[in-house]
Amino acid sequence: MQRYFIDSYITDTTVHLNEAMMHHLNRVLRLKQTTTICVVDASSRVFEVRIEPNQEVGTILNEINQKDDFPIDLTLAVALLKKDKFEWVIQKATELGATRILPFVSERTIIDVDVKDFEKKRVRYQTIAKEASEQSHRKHMCQIESLHSFKQVCHRSAAFKGLCFERVEHESVSLQTCMNLASLVVVGPEGGFSHQEVELARSHGFKLISLGHKTLRAETAAIAVCAMIEAYHDQ
Ligand code: SAH
Repeated sequence: MQRYFIDSYITDTTVHLNEAMMHHLNRVLRLKQTTTICVVDASSRVFEVRIEPNQEVGTILNEINQKDDFPIDLTLAVALLKKDKFEWVIQKATELGATRILPFVSERTIIDVDVKDFEKKRVRYQTIAKEASEQSHRKHMCQIESLHSFKQVCHRSAAFKGLCFERVEHESVSLQTCMNLASLVVVGPEGGFSHQEVELARSHGFKLISLGHKTLRAETAAIAVCAMIEAYHDQ
């Protein structure tokens, strides 16, 4: 069933379809007959809605009790990546269920962007996350945060804080450590983290996480984190 997120709260027996929804239903999907869609309101309540072609008002049929998108509250902090890789991470991590994605710049981040310029990008990234949330039938839209520095990421609090680090060290833990906690998991840029950054993270309570003996591309590591947590809880 086609799914749409709306900014308002559904309190009535009808819902107003916004311009983007009207366009998608009538121009893209070329709706020709009465159909049922799914609408998720601003409080993440999910409703089945009956709609007619070219009608701006839909009728609420019932509310669906949908389980949460992801087994834990996961903040996936990912260093900005080159070209379209960051967008790819947003789309895939959203499909897999990450609660929010936190972009950051670190010492070895290759692309050059400041916080102000980033706001335009963030709007675009949020649109990608919205569409991927709709496509994957989530009940909460994955949120894209503003651009952070690595230091700011270190200062964030979470029940579990993990830094993905490819060099296997004796104190590395597997991702299973965070499986039941609201977690902040950090993935570095193409060039990895510097020694100082690893130390800074450690001093702010981060555990080093190993995703196995092979060095993965940053985007693979980010997706692996989401998939591993999901798979663990699905067993
Ligand atoms: N430039 C580094 C690799 C960086 S990989 C090198 O060639 O040695 C980019 C990011 O992916 C890393 O900062 C880390 O966060 C994550 N990563 C890649 N492989 C990983 C692994 N096996 N375990 C944990 N994290 C990994």
